[in-house]
Amino acid sequence: MAQEVRVRFAPSPTGALHIGGARTAYFNWLFARKQGGKFILRIDDTDRARSSEASYAQILDGLRWLGIVWDEGPDVGGPYGPYRQSERMDIYRRHLDKLVAEDKAYPCFCTPEDLAKDREAAQREGKPPRYVGRCRALSAEERARRLEAGEPHVYRIRSRAEGETVVHDLIRGDVSFANSEIDDFIIWKADDTPTYHFASCVDDAEMRISHVIRAEEHLSNTPRHVLLFEALGLEPPAFAHVPMILAPDRSKLSKRHGATSVSEYRDMGILPEALVNYLLLLGFSPGDDREIVDRETAIQLFELEKVAKHAAIYDVKKLEWLNAHYFRQQSPEQVMDEVWPRLVERGYVARDESRRELLMWVRTVIAFVQTRSRNAQELLDGVRPYFEPVTVYDEKGVRKHFSHSDTARRLRIVAERLAGVAPFVAPVVEREFRGWIEELGVKPGDLIHPVRLAITGLTVGPGLFDVIALLGRDEVCRRLRQAADRVEAGQVPVA
Ligand code: GLU
Repeated sequence: MAQEVRVRFAPSPTGALHIGGARTAYFNWLFARKQGGKFILRIDDTDRARSSEASYAQILDGLRWLGIVWDEGPDVGGPYGPYRQSERMDIYRRHLDKLVAEDKAYPCFCTPEDLAKDREAAQREGKPPRYVGRCRALSAEERARRLEAGEPHVYRIRSRAEGETVVHDLIRGDVSFANSEIDDFIIWKADDTPTYHFASCVDDAEMRISHVIRAEEHLSNTPRHVLLFEALGLEPPAFAHVPMILAPDRSKLSKRHGATSVSEYRDMGILPEALVNYLLLLGFSPGDDREIVDRETAIQLFELEKVAKHAAIYDVKKLEWLNAHYFRQQSPEQVMDEVWPRLVERGYVARDESRRELLMWVRTVIAFVQTRSRNAQELLDGVRPYFEPVTVYDEKGVRKHFSHSDTARRLRIVAERLAGVAPFVAPVVEREFRGWIEELGVKPGDLIHPVRLAITGLTVGPGLFDVIALLGRDEVCRRLRQAADRVEAGQVPVA
C-alpha cells in the first residue's frame, strides 16, 4: 500500500504569521487535500525564550481565518501528539540517549571561548568555520568523568567528512552537498533542550511525515536532516523547498515594504479568499494565464512539480486586485454580516434594528455601493453619504462645480421640481431631470455635477439618479437647499 500522505506546517511561535509562513501552510494544505492526506500543525517552540503564547494564538487564529484547517494539531490532538515541541522533551531525550548509546552522538565540553578561537583560526586560514572535533574522540572514561563532574556540555552528531549528500527535492530535483561542508553539528544544547534540527527530524519521523514542504531558506539544513534521519535509523521524508518571496526591488521582504502579516491584511479589509488566492500565485502557476483561482480549483490544480524554482515577487497591487474581485462576488448576506458591526459602531444603525423597511434599505445601499468598492473600507466610505449629513464638500469639486453665479438658483430649482416627481424611482427621476436640463439651457454636466456635489459632498460615485432615489426625496431636497444656502452665503466648508 502506498504510504499515506502526511504533511506538516511547523511554525515557531516567535512572532506574527507572515505571508511567507501562510504560503508554506497553504501549499502543504493544498497538497494534503489533493492527495487525500493529512495536514498537521506542529508548533516548534523549543526555544522557550523567544516563543510566546500570544504568537501561538495569533498563528492559529490567522490559519483559521484563512480557512487552512488542520487534521491534527495542538488544540485538536491526534494519534501522534502532543503537537507542541515543548511538550515532547522526553521523546527527544529518548532518541538522544539512543544515539549516544550507539556512539552516533557524543557530548562536547568545548567552551564558547574555545569555539571562538577555533573560528578565528579558521578565518585566518580562509577555511569555513567547522567544529574541529576536539571532543570527538574522548575516551569513555573521560566522558563519564566530565559528565559526572557536571561540566557544561552540548551533544554533537558524528558527521561524515567524505562523499556527498544528495537531497532529492521534488521542486528542484537533486541538489548535492559535499559532506565536508557539514560538521559535527549540535543536536542538543547546553540548556538541556534539543536544537531545531534534532527536534524537527525526530518529530517528522515520529509523526510519520511523508513530505516536508517548507521554505527555501531551509534547503541548506536538509543535508543535515538527511544525516540525522540516517543516524536515527529512520526513513527520511520527501522534501520540497518552496521559493523565497522577495520585495519588488528583489530585496528581502520586510516591514518597510508594507503589511506582511496576515492580521494586518485582515485589518486592512483583505478577504481570506483573496489572500489565499494571492498566496497560491506566490510561486505556483496554474499552467495558463489564469490568476483567479479559488480554493477548490487550487486543490484540483496543485502539484509540487508546478511550483517555481525562482523567487516569487511580492506585489500588493495584485493582492488588491484579487480582493476587489472576491469582494464584489460576496453575497449581500456576507457583506451585511461583515459590515453590520461597523455600521453600528458608527451609529448608522441600531444593533438590534428590526424595522423591515429600514433593513431592506440598508441592504440596498450596501449592495449598490459594493459593486463599486474593492474592500470593506471603501464600502464604508462609500455608504457614508447615505447615513451622515453632508458637512464638507470636496474642495476641487467646489471650485469647479459651485463657482457659477447661477449655482444656488439651479440647486433650488432642482429641489422644487423633485418635490413633484412621482413615483420617486431612478428612471423617472432621470427622465424629469433631463427635461430640466433642457429647460435651463445648460449642458448635462452643469446640472449633474453640482447636484451630486450638493447631495454627497463628493465628485464621484454611483449613478446620480440611483443615488437620488436611494437617499429619498426629503433628504435630497434638504441637502440641495442647504448647499444652495451655503453657496449663497459664500460659506461652503471644504475638505
Ligand atoms: N520552525 C521552523 C520554521 O518556522 C520550521 C522549519 C521546517 O519546516 O522544518 O522555520
